[in-house]
Amino acid sequence: MKPGKGSGCVACGFADGTRPLPGGTLLRTAHWTVEHCVGPLGVGTLIVKPLRHITGVHEMSAQESTELGPLLARVTSVLRTVVGDECEQVYVCLWSHSGRVPGHIHFVAQPARTSDIDRHGGAYGPALQMAMFAEGAEPEPGAVEEFCARVRRVLGEDSAI
Ligand SMILES: [Zn+2]
Repeated sequence: MKPGKGSGCVACGFADGTRPLPGGTLLRTAHWTVEHCVGPLGVGTLIVKPLRHITGVHEMSAQESTELGPLLARVTSVLRTVVGDECEQVYVCLWSHSGRVPGHIHFVAQPARTSDIDRHGGAYGPALQMAMFAEGAEPEPGAVEEFCARVRRVLGEDSAI
């Protein structure tokens, strides 16, 4: 459980700067980092992950656990503000299971947009995520950068954590 630099762990690579990360790091606490998702879950889907390479929620330290609740509340609140009325819900989920191998845990915080749900025939929840993965549309880098700039502005305006 100690990949880190040069280990091949994609999540560690984004966090330590050895892999290019569209949108950059949005927020860091002592134990967590927030980034834009690189997968096909749309512009505005963020990742909340521990800086430490752990592959199960049960491995979280007391300090990591203590930071997590307020951080998820803050990130989902920022998403609602930035996305606005189109945001019907913010999904927070964690799978971290690729090829049936536990990976670096990361919470996905996805704004469930009316336009995405309508485009996929009213699919919501896991069905919406499955449809978006099937579609496989990676977000435009420019749109990601623009969204991340708006997230940073909102983060700069609030004073939590
Ligand atoms: Zn890792």
